[in-house]
Amino acid sequence: MTWSFETDPEFAAELEWVDRFVREKIEPIDQLVPDPYDVADPLRNELFKPLQQEVKDRKLWACHLGPELGGPGYGQLKLALLNEILGRSRSAPTVFGTQAPDTGNAEILAHFGTEGQKERYLAPLLDGQIVSCFSMTEPQGGADPEVFTTKATRDGDCWVINGEKWYSSNARHAAFLIVMAITSPDAEYHRRFSMFIVPSETPGIDIIRHVGHTPGVDGSHGYVRYTDVRVPADHVLGGEGEAFAIAQTRLGGGRIHHAMRTVGLVQKSLDLLCRRALSRVTKGERLADKQSVQHAIAHSWAELESFRLLVLRTAWKIDRYQDYSRVRGDISAVKALMPKLLNDVASRALHLHGSIGVSSEMPFLEYIYEAFTMGLVDGPTEVHEGVLARAVLRNYKADEDVFPPYHLPLLREQAEAAHQDVLLRHAAAAGRPEGHGEASR
Ligand SMILES: Cc1cc2nc3c(=O)[nH]c(=O)nc-3n(C[C@H](O)[C@H](O)[C@H](O)COP(=O)(O)OP(=O)(O)OC[C@H]3O[C@@H](n4cnc5c(N)ncnc54)[C@H](O)[C@@H]3O)c2cc1C
Repeated sequence: MTWSFETDPEFAAELEWVDRFVREKIEPIDQLVPDPYDVADPLRNELFKPLQQEVKDRKLWACHLGPELGGPGYGQLKLALLNEILGRSRSAPTVFGTQAPDTGNAEILAHFGTEGQKERYLAPLLDGQIVSCFSMTEPQGGADPEVFTTKATRDGDCWVINGEKWYSSNARHAAFLIVMAITSPDAEYHRRFSMFIVPSETPGIDIIRHVGHTPGVDGSHGYVRYTDVRVPADHVLGGEGEAFAIAQTRLGGGRIHHAMRTVGLVQKSLDLLCRRALSRVTKGERLADKQSVQHAIAHSWAELESFRLLVLRTAWKIDRYQDYSRVRGDISAVKALMPKLLNDVASRALHLHGSIGVSSEMPFLEYIYEAFTMGLVDGPTEVHEGVLARAVLRNYKADEDVFPPYHLPLLREQAEAAHQDVLLRHAAAAGRPEGHGEASR
């Protein structure tokens, strides 16, 4: 039996390097680069490229990938330890080649793509030359694919896509979009959809709006209309009718990677909370000396550490089983817990900073927005709570009797029957009639 909470010294040294690199070189440029996904931004490229090269030279590029795809193949546990450092910074995942949604898109291209698809789309994606988009959610619903209406119909050696997609992140910067569309309307739900690789220059793709969260400012999520978009038949990803299975493969990894990075953002919120508590004095004492502030710090620390352990154990299970279906409940548990944890700790940090905390001169509102985002991307919290509950319930069965086998009177009756001789001896020794006193309480 092994049971260890230690990082091997060689990898711990790498993590120390990453921590310094992120704090000293990447976090500062978060202030200068508005959109890490904008591969056409010359400032972004000038600042990112040398850092990306340093990461590649250090053999830490694209750590989510196995050696066959150009990554070091560290596995999910080491990736978790790395990602929790990268989670501190908006730009860090892109500098390390581990940014969503490209990681998930790369994963499905690697799993399901043909050699031709891999050469044309996967190779430049893995190298960081391009970014990609996953276009699945529709305006009328995201959590339930039953309501999707985007269709693809076969026309000669092409498929023709028509429909609208909503919140397609980075559609404006993407070199290609992976679009989920109905190809067999009468098939059962799980076989109804196919996944298409659509090059962004294909005629008929119209980004109606760039949706975001700041009024009057273009965001990075495309409201995309596809009108008679023709893609060659060899641009189906996986087989016809396989979109559902592909989406599940993609989302399993994506969810746990978000959780790993969220550990980093919660840790950063707690760091800032503690620094403020030690620095600010009111009514003659530091905030840190006030009991309510200590309460906030203690709860934040304990909640973060419990969440982190669950994320690490889930990552360990993925490495051990190599089968996402065996950890679906675990992944849903971290997915459901992460928005509340981030919201709670970032809100406490904001509150403790007072007026400056609520202003745009501090990052806390951005973190709280991120918390709400984490409750929606890759499925709303309630859906994951349902998945987890069903996984837990599979370990139980219904009791048939109205008074169940754990009804206390029944348990007492059974215990008395099993230990009747002992009870009688004790009752006799105490001079009590049978059935009275301590033993029968
Ligand atoms: C920042 C961000 C980035 C995103 N990026 C992408 C992307 O790149 N590509 C893409 O395709 N999509 C993307 N999405 C969309 C995301 O996948 C959806 O928001 C999500 O699936 C929920 O769908 P919806 O927004 O239509 O909400 P709905 O499906 O309408 O759900 C709304 C609410 O209803 C409740 N609800 C829904 N289902 C259930 C249920 N079964 N039980 C109980 N309550 C329920 C929940 O409270 C839920 O929050 C992104 C979303 C965000 C916020």
